[in-house]
Amino acid sequence: MNQRRRGSTSVRQRNLDLVLSHLPTGLELSQKEIAEATGFSEATVSNLTAVLVEQGRIEVTAGRRNGRRANLLSRAAPSRGVMIGASISRHRIEVLGIMPDGEVVRTPTIERVAPFEYADDLRRIVDAVEELSLEVPVSSIGVGLGLTVDPVSERVGSVVSSGPEVVPGFSSSWQPADLRSDLAERFGVPTTVLNDADAGVLGELRAGAAVGSQDVLYIQLGDGVGGGLVFGGRLYRGGRGGFSGEIGHLSFDSEGPLCICGNRGCLEPLFGEALLAKVEGVHGRMSIREFARLAGAGDPACSKALRELASPLSRSLANPVALLAPERVVVGGDLSIAGEAMLAPVIEASHAFGWAWRGEIVLAELGQDSVCIGAAYAAADAAMRD
Ligand SMILES: [Zn+2]
Repeated sequence: MNQRRRGSTSVRQRNLDLVLSHLPTGLELSQKEIAEATGFSEATVSNLTAVLVEQGRIEVTAGRRNGRRANLLSRAAPSRGVMIGASISRHRIEVLGIMPDGEVVRTPTIERVAPFEYADDLRRIVDAVEELSLEVPVSSIGVGLGLTVDPVSERVGSVVSSGPEVVPGFSSSWQPADLRSDLAERFGVPTTVLNDADAGVLGELRAGAAVGSQDVLYIQLGDGVGGGLVFGGRLYRGGRGGFSGEIGHLSFDSEGPLCICGNRGCLEPLFGEALLAKVEGVHGRMSIREFARLAGAGDPACSKALRELASPLSRSLANPVALLAPERVVVGGDLSIAGEAMLAPVIEASHAFGWAWRGEIVLAELGQDSVCIGAAYAAADAAMRD
């Protein structure tokens, strides 16, 4: 009997989780729509949602669907607290809080410099979270990280087998680190760590240029090149190791420059330092964000350097677009701040995307906040599952 009871409980729990997974934070769906998405009957969905309402995990409001009155379901706010979203990239740490009323509050950007020790980065994030939670308690913490992250364990991985010390900006102290556990223990709230481009596409899906899209290819252009994928309206994080959407490491030229992944001809080594080196003779040393602002303002040297990327972008993006036929390609990352100057080379590249593709290419709308906002939503989603 015990066995059987345990079995039914776990089936019901799985069904509850399935309903929740089809109801992302920020969306309102009718019971009929959830029934269609999950394959359950409407009666089953009605029973399951009653349990979720009782648990305080979803809310029901009166609304309309196809001209008729309908009960619309949405996720309940995880708690009356601040949702923290953070980004750790090669050169910077950024932390923001989404307040219960939706206001976004940012802490000052933290510049990262060598030796890029994990303990230092952890302390900086803890300080920023404490600053954001002086008046409102923290409800969840999400961190988008410029490394691969296993979707199950959420431990950091690497784009190379020899360890993350060869990924610029991350010393070997990051390899054994467990950022999720360290933050969760420190603040006692649900915490999620995911790859920064995965967080970026989620941010754009929930609050930016990909709202309402089902299938999205997100390319993050900045110090390096990242990629994020959304299928059927949900973030795709790949299998064990979290190595998915790595557009920057699709090799398209066997004679191209050597990449940190060990291949030749990836997009990754053409961005970041290589891009800045092209204009150093004109502008001296600067950051990618400064480069993007200058390119956006029409600076000839920066604009020319971006235009020269159209050809490698077309060779690199043609295959994933042909394979996935995304509804929308979203261009994000620090270089998206350049606006049309960055979008134009990608649109030019799209001539090589194949004869049948009819998708759109758009700029990210959240700019440098895509990763932090997406990480905050990812953590809120995880909090609802716990
Ligand atoms: Zn590579």
